[in-house]
Amino acid sequence: MIRVSHLNKTYRMGAAEVRALRDVSLTIERGDFVAIMGPSGSGKSTLLHVLGLLDVADSGTYELNGCITDRMTDDERAGLRSQTVGFVFQQFHLLPRATAVENVALPKLYGPGTSGRRPADLLDRVGLSDHRMHKPNQLSGGQQQRVAMARALTNNPTLLLADEPTGNLDSHSQEEILLLLEELNRDGLTVVMVTHELDVSRHARRVIRMRDGAVVSDERTGPVSAGGSAPVAKNIGSLSIRRSRWSALGAHGREAFRSLGANKVRAGLSMLGILIGVGAVVAMLALGTGARKAVEAQLSSLGANLLVLMPGSLKTHGVAQGAGAVTRFTETDARDIPDEIHTVTQTAPSVTGAAQLVYGNKNWRSSIIGTVPSYATLRALSVARGRFFTDLEVVQRARVAVLGATPAQELFGGTDPIGEYIKINRINFQVVGVLKEKGAMGWRNQDDVVGVPITTAMRRLMGKDYVDMIDVQVDKAAHLPATEKALRAYVIRRHRLAEDDESFDVMNLAEIQSAFQATSRTLSMLLAVIAAISLFVGGIGIMNIMLVTVTERTREIGLRKALGARGRDIQTQFITEALVISLVGGISGLLLGVGVSVGLSKFAGWAAGVSGGSVALAFFFSVGVGVVFGYWPARKAAALNPIRALRYE
Ligand code: ADP
Ligand code: MG
Repeated sequence: MIRVSHLNKTYRMGAAEVRALRDVSLTIERGDFVAIMGPSGSGKSTLLHVLGLLDVADSGTYELNGCITDRMTDDERAGLRSQTVGFVFQQFHLLPRATAVENVALPKLYGPGTSGRRPADLLDRVGLSDHRMHKPNQLSGGQQQRVAMARALTNNPTLLLADEPTGNLDSHSQEEILLLLEELNRDGLTVVMVTHELDVSRHARRVIRMRDGAVVSDERTGPVSAGGSAPVAKNIGSLSIRRSRWSALGAHGREAFRSLGANKVRAGLSMLGILIGVGAVVAMLALGTGARKAVEAQLSSLGANLLVLMPGSLKTHGVAQGAGAVTRFTETDARDIPDEIHTVTQTAPSVTGAAQLVYGNKNWRSSIIGTVPSYATLRALSVARGRFFTDLEVVQRARVAVLGATPAQELFGGTDPIGEYIKINRINFQVVGVLKEKGAMGWRNQDDVVGVPITTAMRRLMGKDYVDMIDVQVDKAAHLPATEKALRAYVIRRHRLAEDDESFDVMNLAEIQSAFQATSRTLSMLLAVIAAISLFVGGIGIMNIMLVTVTERTREIGLRKALGARGRDIQTQFITEALVISLVGGISGLLLGVGVSVGLSKFAGWAAGVSGGSVALAFFFSVGVGVVFGYWPARKAAALNPIRALRYE
C-alpha cells in the first residue's frame, strides 16, 4: 500500500539546518497497524505528513496505492488524500461552532461525493449516537477524539494516519481510542500511528523506531490483519472528478452565516460601508428619477412662453441673493409691462407665503399664493369646481379663496367646500373654487396651495408692499430672448438702474429647467461620490475582516486541507463568506435607500421612485464588492501550506 524510498527532508531556519528525514525507506502493507515511535523531534510527524500527502519530501519517491505521488499537483494530491487518507490529530481539530454530526460530515464537502458513509452511522460506530448534536465544547476529550476518528472515516479511507491520537487524553479515554483503532484495523483499515508511549505501541502489530530523522529499528509484534473489505484500486484519472459545486456552495453559505453569527458586531461594522454605499446608490437613482419628474412637472405646469421677473439676483440654485440693493416690483410694474413691450401678451404678479388654514375643528398648513386671475392661464391651472376669483375681487381685496386639491381634501374630506368659510391666519375667507389636481409631483406638492387675490394677500394676510415675482407671457417662443432683453432694459429704465444691474433677475423656462437639472445633477453627483467612497471603504472593510478571519481560522484551513480540500475549495469558501457579508450589507443598504426615498417623497414631497433597475444595481454592486475585495484574502487562505496552517498558533 505504501512504498517510500530514500526520503529526505531538511528544514532550514536561518543558518541552522534540521534534517527531519534522513534516507527513510519503508513499505507498509495493506491491513497493517504500524506504530512510529521515537523521541520528540525525531521526524515522526514529518514522516506522517509526507505519508498523508500534506507535505512533500525534498527527495525520494513515495508510492501510495500504486500512484507515484512525487509529481502530482497540489490538487491531485488533495484529491487522492480525500479519497484515501483519514487523519486524526493530537489536538482533535474539530470545528468549534459545528455539531458532532456536522464535523463528521465535513470531509464530504471535499470527497468524491457519492461514496462515503453516513455521519450518523459513523457516530454510532464510535459510540456517540447520543451526542450527535453536541458541540465540541460540550464533549470530553475522549469524545472529541472519537468524533475526529468518525470524521476521518467519512470518505471511506483505506489508510488512517494518527499523530499522537491519545497524547491529550486520560488513560481511560486513551484505552477506548486504541481499542477503536484496533477494531478498525481488524476490519481491514491500514493504520499508521505516531506515539511516544510504549503502552500505546503495544496495540500495534509493527513498531518502527526513529531517531534524528532516520529509521533505527523496525520490528513486527503481530500479524498483518487479513480481514476486511477487498482494497479498491483507485486510479488517478478519477481524482479530478468535479464535485457538485452547488451543494458545496450551500455548505459554504451556511458556514459563512455561522461565522457571521459568531461575530455579529464585527460583521455588522464591516457591512456598514456597503450598506451606506448601496443605500446612496439607490437613493441617488430614486432622486434622479424624482428630479426628472420635477422638471417634467415644471414643463407641464408653466406655460411654455413664460418669463419670470424677480427681485434680487437669482443664482442658478434658485436662492435669491440680494447683493446689496434689491429692486422691488409692484402691481403697477406688472400692469405696465404689456403696454411697454408689445410682444408681452399678459402678466401675473404674485406673492407667496405660508398660512394656517382652519375649518371647523380641522387644521392644515399650506402655501398661500396671492395673485390675479391671469395667473391661472399662465401657470396652466384650472378649477375642478366653482370658479377662480375675478379681477373685481382683486380690486375689492375680497376675502375669497381657491383651494388646491390637498387642502380641499384635508379640510373638507368628501364634502363640497364651495361657499363655505375657512379661516386663513384667523381671517375669514369664502371658498369660491377648488383647483384640479396637478397630478405630477415636483420638488414640492403643487396641489398643497391656496390662491387668494393678490391685494388681499399683500395687505390683509402678509403685510407685503411688494410682489415676489411677475410672470410675463410672451406671444411666441421665438420672441423669448428679445423680450427678455427688452424687459431688462425696461426695468433698468423704469427703476433708473445701472446697465449691468444685478438687483433683479429675469428667468425664462429654459433657465428654470437648467436650474432644476443643475440642482439634481449636483445632488446625484454628491450621492455618487458618497456611494463610490462608501463602496470602496466598505470593500476595504470587508477585505480587512476577511484577512482577520483567514488569520484567525488558519488552523481550520489547515484542517480542511488535511481533510482533502483543494486550494480552489478554500478560495470558494472565503469568497462566499465575503459575498455573504457584502450581500447582507447590500440588502440592508437597499432597504435603507428605499426608506430614505420613501421618506423624502412622504415628508419633502419629492417624487422619488425606486425601480427594479436600482435593486439590480444594488445587488450587482454588493456582489462585485464582495468578489473583488474577498478575492485576495481568499487567495491567501487557499495558498496556505496545510502543515504550517495546522501548527499555527
Ligand atoms: P516529532 O513529531 O518526531 O516530534 P517533527 O517531525 O515534528 O518531530 O520534527 C522533526 C524536526 O524537524 C524537529 O527538529 C523540528 O524542530 C523540525 N521541524 C519540524 N517542522 C519544522 C518547520 N516547519 N520548520 C523548521 N523546522 C521544523
Ligand atoms: Mg510530532
